[in-house]
Amino acid sequence: MDRKGLLLVLSGPSGAGKGTICDKFMQNNKDVLLSVSSTTRKPREGEIAGVSYNYITKDEFETQLKNDGFLEHVHVFENYYGTPRQSVMDNIEQGTDVLLEIEIVGAMQIKKRFPEAVLIFVLPPSIEELESRIHKRGTETQSQIKLRLERALKEMKEINEYSYFIINKDVDESADYMKCIIKAEKSSVRRYSEELLDFYKEEK
Ligand code: 5GP
Repeated sequence: MDRKGLLLVLSGPSGAGKGTICDKFMQNNKDVLLSVSSTTRKPREGEIAGVSYNYITKDEFETQLKNDGFLEHVHVFENYYGTPRQSVMDNIEQGTDVLLEIEIVGAMQIKKRFPEAVLIFVLPPSIEELESRIHKRGTETQSQIKLRLERALKEMKEINEYSYFIINKDVDESADYMKCIIKAEKSSVRRYSEELLDFYKEEK
């Protein structure tokens, strides 16, 4: 049976742990493609160009944006972030599942354009824990931390727009949940009824 790949969106407030879950999930699920976003933010220590992000200038971002080069994008924390369109679309067409790890405004743009996308919301175990994670990262200034926290609290209210949630207590458990969600979606009659009926018609 021919199936398109799933468009998976892992989203949630900054500091909830989406990045860590993504890394863990990708270690054991090499058949899923993790989309590399483009950003105008400067690389942090340990980040690798082309793997963590494509680091581009504001001018480059705005040109690509004009040319419809992004599936979604956002201007947040004083920088642009966006999902390059072409590679995601090509892979989905070829049947590969593609994972986006993005913030909530971008996730809502994806939901609008691709109602069939699977939206997963990552929650911190508590607000105190979220605060402590943002502090611990230690890469942001005091005012940036404040900005991220305020935004995180607002963002929690968007959860109704999502299909699934994961409370990120333990990264291994959270990555397992992602796998289960994908399996459930791959067994969804609602999603695949046409392909199923076509396939079994051909088989006769
Ligand atoms: P950071 O600067 O910590 O790497 O990322 C800041 C936020 O931007 C995170 O919540 C991250 O998930 C989100 N983000 C990263 N890439 C993209 C993207 O391509 N689109 C959107 N909408 N958000 C992104």
